[in-house]
This record gives sequence, C-alpha cells and structure tokens, in this order.
Amino acid sequence: MSELTARAAELDAADELAGTRKQFVLDTASDHAADAAGVYLDGNSLGALPAAVPGRVDDVVRRQWGALRIRSWDESGWWTAPERIGDRIAPLVGAAAGQIVVGDSTSVNVFKALVGAVRLVSSEHGDETRDEILVDATTFPTDGYIAGSAARMTGCTLRPVTPAEVPGALSARTAAVLLNHVDYRTGRLHDLPSLTAAVHAAGAVAVWDLCHSAGALPVGLDEHGVDLAVGCTYKYLNGGPGSPAYLYVREDLQDRFDSPLPGWNSHAEPFGMRDAYEPASGALRGRVGTPDILSMLALEAALEVWGGVSIEAVRTKSLALTDFFLECVSAYVPQGRVESLTPLAHEERGSQVALRCDDAGDVMKRLIQRGVVGDFRHPDVLRFGFTPLYVGFGDVERAARVLAETLGDLAG
Ligand SMILES: *Cc1c(COP(=O)(O)O)cnc(C)c1O
Repeated sequence: MSELTARAAELDAADELAGTRKQFVLDTASDHAADAAGVYLDGNSLGALPAAVPGRVDDVVRRQWGALRIRSWDESGWWTAPERIGDRIAPLVGAAAGQIVVGDSTSVNVFKALVGAVRLVSSEHGDETRDEILVDATTFPTDGYIAGSAARMTGCTLRPVTPAEVPGALSARTAAVLLNHVDYRTGRLHDLPSLTAAVHAAGAVAVWDLCHSAGALPVGLDEHGVDLAVGCTYKYLNGGPGSPAYLYVREDLQDRFDSPLPGWNSHAEPFGMRDAYEPASGALRGRVGTPDILSMLALEAALEVWGGVSIEAVRTKSLALTDFFLECVSAYVPQGRVESLTPLAHEERGSQVALRCDDAGDVMKRLIQRGVVGDFRHPDVLRFGFTPLYVGFGDVERAARVLAETLGDLAG
C-alpha cells in the first residue's frame, strides 16, 4: 500500500461525514473493473440520487396524485411547498426562514432577481440615474444572456467585468451587480462579504448566484446583508435533473420587490381571480405560476440528507478533499502535464478542482470509461467536483491514480 492510499484510509476512518454516503445511491466496486470502483466527481453538475427520493416520488405520484388528486393541493401540502422547501434550504445558505421561495429554473430566477434589483433602486431614488448593470464577465453563460436582456428591458447598459474589477467599476450609475459565488469553470470562490459591502457602499443592489456554493460551503446571506440571491438545487443539493431553483429576497426588501413575472401564484389572493394584480407579502412574492410539484417534492425528499449535518463540517471536509486531490495529482501525474486552475488558498477555493490539460476531452472520455466521472469544459479543462456528503478520501486517491495512468497510457 502506498503512503497516499494509507493516508486516504486514515482520513476516511476519521471522517465525521462518512456516514452520509449510505444515504445515496452510488456504484459499488462490482459495477466497474476491480481496480476502479466508480468514483463520482460530477456532483457539481448533477448531484447523486439520495436513497429516500424514489420512495417519496412513488408516494407523490401514486397516492398524492393518483388517489387524492386535486385534494393534494391542500392535504398533501402542494400549495405551500415552494415556501416550505425554501425554508428547508435557508439554513444551508445562512438565511432565516421566510426569505426563500423554490420554483422555476435558475435562469428564470436570475431574470426575476436582476430586473427586481433595478426596480428596487429606481423606486428608492425616484429617478433613473442608475443605469448600469455590472455582470461577472467570467460567469456561466446563461447569467450573462439573461443579464443582457434584463438590461435592455430596464433601459440599462450591461457592463461585463471580472469580480476583481467590480470595486473599481462601481459608480453612482450602478444599479445592480450580478456575481457568482464560485466560478463554475475554475472553482474560484469569490469574496461575497467584501464585494457585497462594496456594492452597498456604492448604493447598488447585490445579486449573487449560488449555484456552485450552496450545499458545498457556508454562504451567510443574512450575515453579509446580501440583497437578492438565486441558486439551483440539482448540483450540491442533489435535487435531481431539472429540480427547481430558488430565489432569496432579503426580508426588509420584500415589500418593495417588484417581480417582472407577477403570476397568479404570487397574488395576495390567488383564488380571488382579480383583474388587478396585488402582490402577496413575503418570499412568495417571488412565485410565478403553478409549481413543478413532482420535481419539487423529489427535492424535498433529497434535502432530508441534511438533517444533523452542519455546513461548516461540509466545508472542512470539502477543503480536505480538494487539498488531498491536488496532493495526489502532484504525486502521481508527471510535472507539467496538467495545471490546476483552482486557487490553492482555501479562502479562494470552492468545492471543485479544475485542471487544464491537453486533449482534455479525450482524457475525460477515458476516465469515464474507467469509472472516474468528472466532466470536460471547453476548451481544455478537466473538472472534478467533490461532494463531501458522498465522496471519500479513498475515492480521491483512486481518481488521481486513474488520471495519472490514463495520461501515461496516452503518452505511451
Ligand atoms: C448550473 C448553473 C446555472 C443553471 O441554470 P439553469 O437555469 O438551471 O439551467 C446557472 N448559473 C450558474 C452560475 C450555474 O452554475
């Protein structure tokens, strides 16, 4: 046994989160060649299936829908699910109850949040002197596309800047700033507290996209005074393919939050069927139309794995996993063959490691054939996500070893 496999075994034995792995459906050694039981390092794209989900979905479909039918809107709690599940996500992102509503995709929620942010500013100042939206130029593409449309709709100019350039780009013209907490490509963690403070000092509204941080590290939305935030639930929250996203509107802004998508579900009296729109109070002002109940209730079952799990413990393990992966990669992979794009400093690292690598697309295909599943991001990035709830240190060592062997095979 090599020194690193021995260390992996020790780290796994001391891992206080080791028990949560049993709550997920994952490969066993027999599913793959004996030297490489499946290692799932793509939970930052699609989280693994929590074992509680299939039974719950079966109940929702057969009993709640099949037998109770329309009664389930009340009797099975369907109508209030967006707020109820929002309150379940809230502690994971450092939010008190009553500020998060679940529904729609992240893209749609980015739209609601950004247009809502510009409207907050113009309602506050009573004029349109703030006519710029700053957007993270390194962002996941959908955020940039939606921000562009939101800017056109609100008469603003869109200014793409890197997060590091935000403090220098803020001015009396800035209405809103859309930032990613963790960069989806490099895994870089941005400084949410100080960037939020800078946005506020300039009198603008801070909108954060938490897709790659929620469920992987503490966010502290309330503590840091974030105005609006969005995130998806199918990455580190394991809600399943296409599970609904969420929108956070800080409590003291809710009365003034003016959604660009005011549907009947956010009406003060949804069954009053009034001609005139009158927004409900509270987080449910972020709702639009009929919620996607099947995927929403699958998400609710998926969130049960968080019972008794602290996000601080998740963060500690996440950093240990990525540290150990980087250590194994530098021990096993010939110098210069890959280059980490993920910062070494803990305060700048999310829960993934991105390695720049020649032939990255081909390399990732071969890794997947050997049961080590990460993903490829154009043009030359191997991305490995580490979900502390179900990834162990033995997995990490094996993934690095298989990567080194694969690169060796390609060279030979
Ligand atoms: C995953 C991700 C999305 C996904 O948006 P969808 O509307 O769910 O497809 C959006 N933004 C970021 C930053 C992401 O990482």
